[in-house]
Amino acid sequence: MTDNTLGFDTLAVHAGAEPDPATGARQVPIYQTTSYVFRDADHAARLFNLEEVGYIYSRLTNPTVAALANRVTALEGGAGGIACSSGHAAQIMALFPLMAPGCNIVSSSRLYGGTITQFSQTIRRFGWSATFVDTDDLDAVKAAIDDNTRALFCETIANPGGYVSDLDALAKIADEAGIPLIVDNTTATPWLCRPIDHGATLVVHSATKYLTGNGTVTGGVVVDSGKFDWSASDKFPSLSQPEPAYHGMTFHAALGSMAFTFHSIAVGLRDLGMTMNPQGAHYTLMGIETLGLRMERHVKNAKAVAEWLEKDPRIEAVTYAGLPSSPWHDRAQRIVPKGAGALFTVAVKGGYDACVKLVDSLNLLSHVANLGDTRSLIIHPASTTHRQLDEAQQVKAGAAPNVVRISIGIEDVADIIADLDQGLTAATA
Ligand SMILES: *Cc1c(COP(=O)(O)O)cnc(C)c1O
Repeated sequence: MTDNTLGFDTLAVHAGAEPDPATGARQVPIYQTTSYVFRDADHAARLFNLEEVGYIYSRLTNPTVAALANRVTALEGGAGGIACSSGHAAQIMALFPLMAPGCNIVSSSRLYGGTITQFSQTIRRFGWSATFVDTDDLDAVKAAIDDNTRALFCETIANPGGYVSDLDALAKIADEAGIPLIVDNTTATPWLCRPIDHGATLVVHSATKYLTGNGTVTGGVVVDSGKFDWSASDKFPSLSQPEPAYHGMTFHAALGSMAFTFHSIAVGLRDLGMTMNPQGAHYTLMGIETLGLRMERHVKNAKAVAEWLEKDPRIEAVTYAGLPSSPWHDRAQRIVPKGAGALFTVAVKGGYDACVKLVDSLNLLSHVANLGDTRSLIIHPASTTHRQLDEAQQVKAGAAPNVVRISIGIEDVADIIADLDQGLTAATA
């Protein structure tokens, strides 16, 4: 196991992996196997009793997938982690040990669009619900928490770009209410912010974005700080009391700071099956090796492009917390001091028609529903991801008809600016 006090870029290359014990292979091999031969019947029994850590079946654990979970855990400064089949799977996996029918979460209203749908619609089928609040109104956050609330949820840097959550203030409220703060750290990555250092209990990622970094894998990760006292109240019986779904094991008493992680594997992955595949885990591990290098370039480019756009007469507004004009600029200095990410929205003069022309006129920037790629990406939410909403809802979601969302890549910044320049000329002609 790698020494987790090493620097970020060293951990990004080494954490969670050592030369393959069987072959000496230096890169993490793709263990493309479903099952693992037990040494004997006693070994098998010990594995099933969680008395010994090892591999049983790849829906639960796999060496390549474990290397990924452990690497992200090291980067986030957590105690344990679980790799999942997607970012949305990671969100369900984070909630699963905490929730029961009738329980709710209190969530920031500023979220990735798919998460708003998952929380407002789909989780209701499980008897769970979400109350959405403006997390800048701390009194509203406190007021929304009731006896059935089991978590507070937010994103470090939230869609549609520019909004930075006050993690320290939200962690304090969660603490006082005896519930965990769950932070989606996808758009910041642990290079810009480690939410656990700001008091978060659980961190979730869409590994699909910056962690893999090149748009090749759909994946997710949950990281547990290991610091939450699940037994301090009767709110979390799956962890603090005998778990009927795992022959009456009391996870917190038996496994301490690893209770959440082991429950997520032994019950969550076992029964929900939202498992990462070994090949996807391998690609994501390769991506993470260069996370620090890429993020440095992503934020440098994003700042330069945002500054250029803000001065351009064809632009109405740029929402990027890295700009002094942003209402979240000061908070960004505290939460994401190395840079406010590489995702922001731009309001274009000429409205809906100009935005549609802009996305059609660009050559370097790709028009796609993704973010966090090495390539610069653009989308016009009002004609795509947010077209089901009426105009008032679009405006509220930060996706007004005159707004495009840009995810800045790691290309030469002069080329990104030149493409936007020619696209804006075509769009506003
Ligand atoms: C993409 C994304 C998700 C969902 O992740 P998938 O891997 O697409 O399931 C969740 N949160 C944020 C902030 C995202 O950008």
